[in-house]
Amino acid sequence: MRNALNAITDELRRLKADGVERVAVSDDGLDALRRSVAGRPAAGPIAAAKAAPAEPAAPPAAPPVVVLPEGDKAARWAAVLRAVLDDPVCKAKVRPGKKAVLGVGSLDAAIMFVGEAPGAEEEIQGEPFVGPAGQLLNRMIAGMGLSRADVYIGNIMNWRPDLPTGPDGVQTGNRPPTEAEMAHCLPYLRAQVEIVNPRLLVALGATAAKGLLGHRSFGALGEVRGRWHDLGGRPLMVTYHPSYILRNPINRTKRLIWEDLLKVMERANLPVSDKQRGFFL
Ligand code: URA
Repeated sequence: MRNALNAITDELRRLKADGVERVAVSDDGLDALRRSVAGRPAAGPIAAAKAAPAEPAAPPAAPPVVVLPEGDKAARWAAVLRAVLDDPVCKAKVRPGKKAVLGVGSLDAAIMFVGEAPGAEEEIQGEPFVGPAGQLLNRMIAGMGLSRADVYIGNIMNWRPDLPTGPDGVQTGNRPPTEAEMAHCLPYLRAQVEIVNPRLLVALGATAAKGLLGHRSFGALGEVRGRWHDLGGRPLMVTYHPSYILRNPINRTKRLIWEDLLKVMERANLPVSDKQRGFFL
């Protein structure tokens, strides 16, 4: 039961982070849920879940100050990587045997994609967007006539936000990072933006958009998605996170994300063919 509740809670958290405001639940589904929790002892998983703090303990240290050294882009990027790897908070948050994750791609990219946080695959490989969401992001980039090596891909977070681990020691699922966690990692992302100096950025999903635009800058993703925003003088497009499309593979959403990417292509002065205009992911 605990696993089922955790799975439901995780999925609801993720949907919320993706901007979903309402979820339809059938009467049968509600009955099944009611039946399964009826007669539970007060201290059971439901009570535990209710009592759980909404926000895990904040990282103990103040956000890092990243001072970029003189030198070329590669040297400056290497300095940011070193700072992340040496960051005591980051070291404490990266789970044993797993890796911190910094951005990847061309340091001269015109387009910088920003995601949320490393997931299970990313913390193993130490590279952003290498799991299922990454495969879809690669297809989106290919649809734009580019390759992964032509763009820069970063995340708000440098570590995978922790969830309680099961008795088998395995952490399942992902949760969006807290505001405090994001505040800790954002200086590293800002340093990458400064180094790459992209012409424009694309925020993938609500968490990335909140990290870049401010935690309380909007409520639902629909308020900011598909429009240009100003990020310190740089254009920022907000679109869906690829994992939202993976969970909701309906044509309408696929078309909407593609329309956002067409706007990105136009703003980046990339050629747009008739085929691309009619394209669906
Ligand atoms: N989702 C993200 O937001 N970032 C990754 O690196 C992988 C999945």
